[in-house]
This record gives sequence, C-alpha cells and structure tokens, in this order.
Amino acid sequence: MSERSYKSDALVLYSRNLGEADRLITLLTWEKGKLTAVARGARKIKSKLAAGVDLFTYGHYQFHRGRSLDLLTGQQVREHFAIFRDDVGLYPYALFLTEITDRLISGEEPSPAPCALLLEGWRLLSSTDPPDPALLCRAFELKMMDLAGFCPYLQGCLQCGSPEALLFSARRGGLFCPRCAESDAFRLSAGTVALARRLLEAPLDRVKLLRCSAPQGRELAGMAAAFRRYHLDIGKLRSLQLIKSMNLAP
Ligand SMILES: [Zn+2]
Repeated sequence: MSERSYKSDALVLYSRNLGEADRLITLLTWEKGKLTAVARGARKIKSKLAAGVDLFTYGHYQFHRGRSLDLLTGQQVREHFAIFRDDVGLYPYALFLTEITDRLISGEEPSPAPCALLLEGWRLLSSTDPPDPALLCRAFELKMMDLAGFCPYLQGCLQCGSPEALLFSARRGGLFCPRCAESDAFRLSAGTVALARRLLEAPLDRVKLLRCSAPQGRELAGMAAAFRRYHLDIGKLRSLQLIKSMNLAP
C-alpha cells in the first residue's frame, strides 16, 4: 500500500447521495476516529463499493487520502443491519444510537471503545430477543457520554457527596441533595436514580434484565433530554423526531 492509503474496520454513521453516482459517507473507524469519505460510483449497479456504503453497515474499509476528502477505494462488509431498514418500529431507535454516537464522538484518534459500543448496540437491537429499545437507548447514551467525557454525575450529591441526592440539574451536570440543589433542579424518584446508575454501570447486554416502569422511563427520558439540550450542542436529532411522531416510547 502506498503511504496515502490506509485501512480500518469501521461503522457507517451517515450516508448520502452525492452528484450522479457517488455517495458521501461518514464512518466511525477503529483506527482513525471519525472521518468522511467519498465513494466514487458507489450507486452504479456493478460498483464494488455499493454493498458497503449504507447506513448501519460494519465492514473493513480501504481509503486513499485526498486533498480535502478521503476516497473510499475498497470494502468488505462484515455485518449489514438491514433489519433496521425493514422494521419501522426499530429504525428510529437504531438511528438514535447512530446519531448520538455521531454527535458525541469526534476527532481522528483511534476509537475502539465507541466503535465496540455502537456495534454492540446494533447487535443487541437487531437480536431475536432484543431489550426494551427505549431503555437500551438510555443506557447506550449514558455510556457513550461517559466515553466522550460528558456524563452527568449520578453517584450522589455533586456538591457535598450526600447519597440522598434525587434533584437533577442539567445546568450543573448531575444530582444534588435538597441542601445543595438550586431552583433549576427537578426531582427524580429514588427508583429512577438507582436505575440510571445501573444503566451507566452494567454492561449493555444486561439492560435486558433491568425492569423499568412507564413513569421511570419518562423520567429517564426527561433527564436525558434536559442534559442533552443544555450540554451537548447537538441540535435536533431526526431519530427523536421520528420517535415522537410515531408515538413510540421516548
Ligand atoms: Zn449536597
């Protein structure tokens, strides 16, 4: 391989048509972090690139470094999660896992942990016995925020350390006890706080074993939304708009 070529395992985070026959894809790679590449001619029927450029694809990719954008020059699909395209109930949640990863992870450093987490999220959601998709999204989001260094503090009062901390402040980044909380904090139930901690700490494949009532699910979603709005300048996520418009659990 020439110096300007490189290879990496990667996950397709975003894919759109470009010009007459090309695709522009954003990938999260194990070796080089997040990158955008052009797949020339990928929409032609006989293109050797066509199979690897769809959203929700895990593959091994070869690139050529370009002046502005890199070119995709070869690919080998490992897993293609076509089920997300076919199952309208799963699609918004799969898109959420992918969009939140895209927004939280940036830079060109090797990203094995975010890659492994997203691949595991796709695999769990597409499995024959999937966890509650909304709860999977909450656990996934906390873990990805943790990897990105933005996680809300859930281990007790952020100010004094008291374990009696059920008041959540998005602005101040975590839980507070009644003495340390300010007027912007809102109360969560003790069960919801315990569940949020479990979601952050337990391996993603254990989400299936956790029970979440409908009110707890709403509280978790409210907490996550408030935190996202305040700290992560990520704008509107299409997945969340879809979840709302389809009346699915947030
Ligand atoms: Zn306190």
